[in-house]
Amino acid sequence: MHSLWSDGRWNKLTMAHGCYWAKCTFCDISLDYIKSYEPISASLLVDRMEELINKTGQNGFHFVDEAAPPSMMKAVAIEIIKRKLVVSWWANIRFDKSFTQDLCYLLKASGCIAVSGGLEVASDRLLELIQKGITVAQVAKVSKHFSEAGIMVHAYLMYGFPTQTVQETIDSLEMVRQLFETGVLQSAFWHLFTMTAHSPVGLAPEKFLVKKVSNEIGTFANNDIAHTDPTGADHELYGFGLKKALFNYMHGNCFEFSLQKWFDFKVPNTTTAPHFIQKAITAPDLNTSTHYKVIWLGVLPNTTIVQKSKKGNKWEEMTMEFQSNKNALAINVASDKGAWLLKLLSEINIQNSNGLLLTDVKNSYTQAGLSDFELFWDNKPVTHLSKAGLLRV
Ligand code: SF4
Repeated sequence: MHSLWSDGRWNKLTMAHGCYWAKCTFCDISLDYIKSYEPISASLLVDRMEELINKTGQNGFHFVDEAAPPSMMKAVAIEIIKRKLVVSWWANIRFDKSFTQDLCYLLKASGCIAVSGGLEVASDRLLELIQKGITVAQVAKVSKHFSEAGIMVHAYLMYGFPTQTVQETIDSLEMVRQLFETGVLQSAFWHLFTMTAHSPVGLAPEKFLVKKVSNEIGTFANNDIAHTDPTGADHELYGFGLKKALFNYMHGNCFEFSLQKWFDFKVPNTTTAPHFIQKAITAPDLNTSTHYKVIWLGVLPNTTIVQKSKKGNKWEEMTMEFQSNKNALAINVASDKGAWLLKLLSEINIQNSNGLLLTDVKNSYTQAGLSDFELFWDNKPVTHLSKAGLLRV
């Protein structure tokens, strides 16, 4: 991930002006470049991508938004795929729960290779104070969706947020260790919290139990305010140990080391549960919305009908063989449901359709005289088809 920043040439664009979230208490959200949110249309953005490719001969893009909105990323991905553009792109994000597994597959199909996002302090109490609108479990799940789709994930980590205790610093390091050990994070960087003049903390330090050292207000480019944190830890003390541990985890080393090994002074044992992240990534999805569209990115399958019989009963089954550049997938379904599915896939092909709402998919299923839609739609083998390009986004 670090080489993405430094090597090669990336065309730089933004998907929106400002941040669609604009709530984080350490961020300069009172300034226009964050608080005034104005997205542009996906088709205009992809027009600009095409212009830049023609002008520079480069098809790599870095979307430099502070946090690219998931809805725009989806729209841009669909537009790129429809226009058959061959591009690579990466973006800064917030670990929003809208990044479902299928959305990540869609982003990957459009050329997304990496994302970077702020996990900040891996502690739910501090994430609440930061008003990041995420939990550590959510970050783990979303990172898993990206990683599973083959998109690299980089996290910005923070230590020294107001009132952060030594125990919380160590527990947050343990969360980070588990995120790397489970393979859902590939890269990260620790930053020491800085209090900036235009952030909620800088504007009202007393609310966050910190004190300004002086009343000098800096300029836009130099707006850090020196502060003390009477209830928190001596934060600077931990920087070296945190960075050393992270360096090793990023290289897949030393997961078995006790956290004490990274510090040459006594630190408390972690209170983070040993398999916290593993449990979070295997828990049911957080986003259970049924307000999605169904689209098909793949090519139609080869089909064969097989006659089946058991204990005097006879029926027909359809084998559908899906072939993509990377893998082959075969499913067996009742032949009448297979025929309906085949028709649906042609209707929702991304090249000539914007997809169908779930309610319309269900109507089409019942109009075909088929029963038990949810049983068919929300279970294997149909749910397996996301890997072949049947996406719910
Ligand atoms: S830190 Fe990022 S997500 Fe939070 S308000 Fe600032 S730009 Fe938006």
